[in-house]
Order: sequence, then structure tokens, then C-alpha cells
Amino acid sequence: MRKPLVAGNWKMHTDSSQAQDLASSIVSRVSSVTDVEVVLCPPFVWLERVAKLVEETGILVGAQDTFWEDWGAYTGEISPLQLSEMCSYVIVGHSERRHIIGETDEIVARKARAVARAGMVPILAVGELEQEYKEGISKEIVSNQLSAVLADGWDHEIVIAYEPVWAIGTGLAASAQYAQDMAAFIREQLSSYGLNQERVRILYGGSVNRGNFKEFIEQKDIDGALVGGASLKAEEFAELVMMAS
Ligand code: 13P
Repeated sequence: MRKPLVAGNWKMHTDSSQAQDLASSIVSRVSSVTDVEVVLCPPFVWLERVAKLVEETGILVGAQDTFWEDWGAYTGEISPLQLSEMCSYVIVGHSERRHIIGETDEIVARKARAVARAGMVPILAVGELEQEYKEGISKEIVSNQLSAVLADGWDHEIVIAYEPVWAIGTGLAASAQYAQDMAAFIREQLSSYGLNQERVRILYGGSVNRGNFKEFIEQKDIDGALVGGASLKAEEFAELVMMAS
């Protein structure tokens, strides 16, 4: 059995007191839930503060990104080894980094390897653009994104977040059936790279909220969610965690 995972990607939101309030409020609502892994991914600057707040609650902390080298003269970058002092997970390949910052599949692959090398688990985000969805090439796109990370061999834990770009922040979530089809496809691909497909957790992301999450989590190949907007509301985020429980 795969343990459900609900991760909140706070993106570039929250000032220090909002981050503190949000984390505390989430802790008070979900720390009694033990059958769901809950991961909070605040901005870098609040990681340490949030990590302290969730200490010994079972709630884990993740980073939203990392650099791929361990140490060195890389002004402005953050090392996976620095993150590993407070994080269990790191999101890599989020569509906002691929499409706004311009990260390539190769960069994402380097980051994923760096995260694993530092003893953390990458949450590898994959997903097609709206145009690619309309052209019917979603599987090809996702397959290439997976291949960049996995084709040279992968023997660490990894979580895959399937996030169709057209569903992110739009209020237009994919249908549960479509997300399930894509998750099943991803699971098949994982086994073609020698991963134990039954053990890898696959999350859905893209406009997940209290009104639609139940349908997603009921799907056979969907093990949780990577949540953006709704993760900034403690009450709604806690409801999502309860639904996965
Ligand atoms: P929304 O839930 O706001 O659509 O964002 C999804 C996302 O990008 C999570 O990483």
C-alpha cells in the first residue's frame, strides 16, 4: 500500500507572519492524522521557521527548488545539502520553473539527482502545456520529462506530481478520469525504467480544492495531491488531508 501524500506548494506567497500563522494553523488541524504524509513547501526564507513549527508533529517540510551542485561559487543559489538540514522533499521541475524561468529537462534531471544525493526525495513535477494537450501529445511530453530524469537509472525514492499546466491556477482542474489515465501511463513508464511501479507515489496537481479532491484521491493510480492555491488556506488544506485519510 502506498501512503497518501498531500503537499502544499506555497509558491512565492506569505510574509513571515503569514507563513508562521499558516503553518501553526495547519499543525493544529492535521497533526493527529497519521495515515497521510503531509508536506509543507514554503518559500526558502521561511523553511527554517516552518521546520521548527512542525518539529515532532509528523508533518514534513519540502523546498520548492534547489541548485544542482552541492557547494561552490554560485551566487544566489541554494545547495541541496543546505536544504537537507530541514527538508525531506524538494519539488523539481515545477511548470513555473520550466516555463517562466526556462529550466530544461536536463536541468531538472540534474536537480533531481542532487536532491537524491543529499538524502531527500524529489517530487518531480511533469505535465503538458495547453497547446500540447490540444494537439493530443500529452503522453509524449510527459514521457520525455520522465525519461530525462530516469533513463540513466534511478535507484532512489521519487514522487511524481502530474500537473497539466493548463490546470494550474486556472480553476479548471483536469477531469479525474483524465488524471487517472495519465497517472496510469506514468506508472507504466516507471516500470519501463526499472522502478518498482507499485511503490512510487503519483500525485495530481492543478486547481485541486475541497470540491474536487475526493474524486482524484479515489482514483486507483493517484496517491495524493500537490496543492497550490488551496494550500494557503489552513482549513481547506486540512480538509484535503482528511479526504486522503
Ligand atoms: P493550484 O493548486 O493553485 O492550481 O497550483 C497547483 C500547483 O502548481 C502546485 O504545485
